[in-house]
Amino acid sequence: MHSLNEMDLKGKHVLMRVDFNVPVQDGKVIDTTRIETVKPTLDLILSKGASVVLMSHRGRPKGEYREDLSMAPVLPVAEEILGVKIEPLFANEVINEEIIDKSRALEPGEVAMIENLRFRAEEEKNDPEFARELSKLGDVFVNDAFGTSHRAHASNVGVAQVLPSVLGLLVGREVEVLSEVLHDAKSPFVAILGGAKVSDKINVIENLLDKTDRMVIVGAMANTFLAAEGYDMGKSLVEEEQLDLARELMEKAKDHQVDFVLPVDLVVAKEIAEGAEHRVVKPDEISEDEMALDLGPESIETIREKLQDAKTVVWNGPAGVFEVAPFNKGTFAIADIVSKLDGLTVIGGGDSAAAIVQSGLEDRMSHISSGGGASLEFLEGKELPGIVAITGKGKDA
Ligand code: AMP
Repeated sequence: MHSLNEMDLKGKHVLMRVDFNVPVQDGKVIDTTRIETVKPTLDLILSKGASVVLMSHRGRPKGEYREDLSMAPVLPVAEEILGVKIEPLFANEVINEEIIDKSRALEPGEVAMIENLRFRAEEEKNDPEFARELSKLGDVFVNDAFGTSHRAHASNVGVAQVLPSVLGLLVGREVEVLSEVLHDAKSPFVAILGGAKVSDKINVIENLLDKTDRMVIVGAMANTFLAAEGYDMGKSLVEEEQLDLARELMEKAKDHQVDFVLPVDLVVAKEIAEGAEHRVVKPDEISEDEMALDLGPESIETIREKLQDAKTVVWNGPAGVFEVAPFNKGTFAIADIVSKLDGLTVIGGGDSAAAIVQSGLEDRMSHISSGGGASLEFLEGKELPGIVAITGKGKDA
C-alpha cells in the first residue's frame, strides 16, 4: 500500500470519505471538530493537483431522503473551515448520471460534496452496485473517516474494493497511535476505563490485561466491580448480570500481575441534579437510597500516584456523571492529571474527549481519537473493516 504522501495525484479525481456527521442545532453546526480534522488531508491532496469529491453520512435517515439530515447546513461551514469553495452535487438519491458527469468535469484544485450517503439504504448494506456507482466519482479513493471504520459500508469498504485506495492522514495517525498502544507501549502502561457499562468495555479490558501494568476503573463501571467485591452500592448503577464476569476479570488481572485500581472513596447523592446535596464516603458507607456518582478526593489522589511515572496512558470513559456538576470533578481531575504527563497519552473518543475539549487541554494530549466506537474496537484487538479494506494483504494502490 502506498501512503498518501507518496502518491502522485496530479490531474486525478479523488473521492474522499470524511466523517462530517457533526451536531446541528436549529440549522447551525455547533461542533466543527470533525471538519477541522480532515483539513491536512484535503490540503495535501489539493496541493498535489487533484480535484476532490467529499462524501459523508449524517445522522440516521435509514435509507430515505430527509431534509433535516441533508449535508446542506454543513457545506458552508466546511467551506469556511477548509478554506475552499465546495460545489454542492446534491440529489435526494445521492448519486445519478448528472452528478457523475459533473464530478468528472472538476478541475484540479476544485472540491465538491455529495448528499448524505445514508439517504440510500445500500450504503449501510455495503451494496456492491452502490459502491460501484460511488466509485465513478473518482480515480482514487482516500478514506479519512475513522469514526465509521469499524463498520463495513459501501462508502468505505465497497469503494476500496473498486478503486486504488489509501488512508487519509487522520486515519493513518489513528492507526499508528492505537497500534503503538497495543503492540509497542512503553512501560508503565496505565489504562483508565470508565463510563456507564462494564458490558461495553469487557473486551477492551480483556485485551489490555496482558499489556498494561495498571488498570484504573472509574465511573459507573467501577460500581459493578465494587459490588462484585461485596460492597453494597445502594441505588448506584450496577450491572448485576456482570458481577461474575467482574470477579473473573479481577482474578485474571491478578494472574497477569496487573495492578487493578478501584475507587477508595466516592461522591454519593440521592439524585442526579445540578448542585444536588452530596457527600464523600468510603465504599462501605453508602446508604440504601444513595448513588455513587463520582470519584472522591482520595481516589483522585490515588489515580494521580498511579499515573505519575506512566509512559503510556489510554483513557476511555468518564469517571462520573460529568455532565452534571458537582459530579464532574473526577473526570476533569483525570483530564488535568493526564495532560501533565510526558509519555504517550491517548484519549478514546466520545465523553472523555469532550471533557478534554471542555477543559481546553486538547493540545496537551498526544492523541484524541476521532472515533469512540472505532477506537474501542481497535483496542479490543479487532480488525476494522474500513481500514483492512485498504491496508489488507494483496491490496495495492
Ligand atoms: P459511556 O458511554 O459508557 O462512556 O458512558 C458515559 C456515561 O456514563 C456518561 O453519560 C456518564 O454520565 C455516565 N456515568 C459515569 N459515571 C456514572 C455513575 N457513577 N453513575 C451513573 N452514570 C455514570
